[in-house]
Amino acid sequence: MQVATGKSVLNGIAIGKIKVYTPPKVTISEDLIEDIETELKRFDAAREKAITQQNALYEKAVIDAGEDSAEVFSVHAMMLEDDDLIDATKEIIKNQKHNAEYATKIAFNNQAKVFAEMDDPYMKERSADIYDIEQAVLNVLFGIDPESMQGKEPAILVANDLTPSETVRLDKSLLLGIITRQGSLNSHTAILARSMGIPALVQCGEVQSKWDGKTAIIDGYNSCVYIDPTEDLMASLKAKQDNEKKQKALLQELKGQSNTTIDGKTIKVYANIGGPSDIGLVQQNDAGGVGLFRSEFVYLNAKDYPSEDEQFNAYRLAVEALAPKQVIIRTCDIGADKQVGYMGMHKEDNPAMGCRAIRLCLTRRDFFKTQLRALLRAASYGNLGIMFPMIISTRELHECKELLAECTKELNARGITVGNYSIGVMIETPAAVMIADELAEECDFFSIGTNDLTQYTLAIDRQNASLDPFLDTHHPAVLREIQMTIDAGHRHGTWVGICGELGADLSLTETFLRMGVDELSVNPVSVLPLRKTIRGINLKKEK
Ligand code: PEP
Ligand code: MG
Repeated sequence: MQVATGKSVLNGIAIGKIKVYTPPKVTISEDLIEDIETELKRFDAAREKAITQQNALYEKAVIDAGEDSAEVFSVHAMMLEDDDLIDATKEIIKNQKHNAEYATKIAFNNQAKVFAEMDDPYMKERSADIYDIEQAVLNVLFGIDPESMQGKEPAILVANDLTPSETVRLDKSLLLGIITRQGSLNSHTAILARSMGIPALVQCGEVQSKWDGKTAIIDGYNSCVYIDPTEDLMASLKAKQDNEKKQKALLQELKGQSNTTIDGKTIKVYANIGGPSDIGLVQQNDAGGVGLFRSEFVYLNAKDYPSEDEQFNAYRLAVEALAPKQVIIRTCDIGADKQVGYMGMHKEDNPAMGCRAIRLCLTRRDFFKTQLRALLRAASYGNLGIMFPMIISTRELHECKELLAECTKELNARGITVGNYSIGVMIETPAAVMIADELAEECDFFSIGTNDLTQYTLAIDRQNASLDPFLDTHHPAVLREIQMTIDAGHRHGTWVGICGELGADLSLTETFLRMGVDELSVNPVSVLPLRKTIRGINLKKEK
């Protein structure tokens, strides 16, 4: 068995035979031509046909992946009408006396390089679009039918890279998964795969052509692919895949339904995510929003401090893709069990009670402000909530709000206006429960982190499995704290959710509803089972 790693576009499992996707080799002649008129006509005809194809791809993508994801193809069709690009190509045919293929390659490549050298990450990404339309024109000129490259059997496609056009052209009924050596998580190809619900790995450096025909499993949850997997692994991942299928069946039954009890009480059911690669799961499981985006994964997945732009891109991706749904991003909760090498943190005797989360952020303010500016920039792209972890005092909340105001000023000075956003506090320490009234006066929502709240209330290290005999996950002290928090929030018009693991404990759903909880934020795959449970509860019926 071989294991190769990459970046996962979607948390899902794909099992099947590999088909290595290799575009046919073509040679572009550099010979000089005599019949300029014919080459100009060939270029025009190929460009026109490519525009028709891009418009057809738009129609297909709307059905397969939704209007937003399809937009890229109408942009491509527009780019193919660009006068500068057309003139540059025709100049090469006329003045340098080269054929249509050569002129297309040179002119389009030059344009792509101009985009690639731009500072703005959005403009940089446009160079991939130019290469895509260049390929589309060349395919027409060479008479290549890209659809024929997929093969006739269901397969996991392995490629050096795939353009958005190639991705949408693929016959979805035969496409089990995608693995590419190149590509980024933010590329249109990744976005399309995500919207189409296809497990995909990008930046898988170990891709090999000799994988063709071998059995493989893409494990999107662990960002890896197993080639020739062992029987045991096959059995366990097959079981996981079957579970995914059950989930899909549940989706058919419950998609679009409200989270409403028999007697008419509706609550929000949101999803917890670790980064943009989980966006597809939020959509597939029909979550009402994101109740907890654990932003520390952006730091944990990096080799060095992520820049403001890098963070902004990750946050914007989630906020924009899910708009108008609310996306609550928790500021960095590093420390305790989540250690980051490049941050050079001091070793502590008791890290769970040490310099973690908001304590670390308020100690390293420049570091914190980089994240806050990235978050504030993302606010204009959708419905953002900013949430602070491990709060134990109103002073800390005040300081966070002051830093937000300072960062807003800095962004304004850079000519960036900040959109609306709401502010929330995680209630995950007994201290926060005790001062919930004061905190509620100063924020829009609470989210109860039952994982830490249980740890700190019961004084049981959440990492220490040997303490399980002492752990009562339904301990009355924790349940009382939840009730106290909900009551305090409601006294001040602050809505209250639960984002710890207890929120997904179906044996407590009715209890939480009776307590008056407004939102439960759970692992994406728990959204629909939770909806089903809520829809079976009657709060008017005596318990
Ligand atoms: C919690 O403590 O319940 C929580 C949701 O945060 P984390 O598990 O990331 O500490
Ligand atoms: Mg926590």
